[in-house]
Amino acid sequence: MMKKKELICISCPRGCHLTAERGEGSTGEWQISGNFCPRGAAYAIQELNDPRRIVTATVASDSRLLPRLPVRTDRPLPKRMIAPLLNRLYRLRVKIPVKSGEVLIDDVEKSGVRVIFSCNCKE
Ligand code: SF4
Repeated sequence: MMKKKELICISCPRGCHLTAERGEGSTGEWQISGNFCPRGAAYAIQELNDPRRIVTATVASDSRLLPRLPVRTDRPLPKRMIAPLLNRLYRLRVKIPVKSGEVLIDDVEKSGVRVIFSCNCKE
């Protein structure tokens, strides 16, 4: 009996429909089909074994003109860490000015991922 999962590749706008298959109980690699290019197989393996996402959010600032500032992770973060990170971000209040790329949080949950500002913000 084969274990089968369907996914849609989000690596480019083509959105290929992918099928991942491997033997029931098998710990071997998934066999991926439906991908137009190798990035699809890499995406599917990553998604099945360790799903990650770029996180975008806003944080409160001390500015009256810019009360919330945009931030994002510099790399995809494991999905299980996203909700705790958002809770942490929503409790923060930062001072401006900030520069685009400036680090707000270094090494989220020891993942090596940083949260950075995505704007040059000053009053
Ligand atoms: S498999 Fe390749 S062509 Fe298809 S959506 Fe993914 S990146 Fe794009």
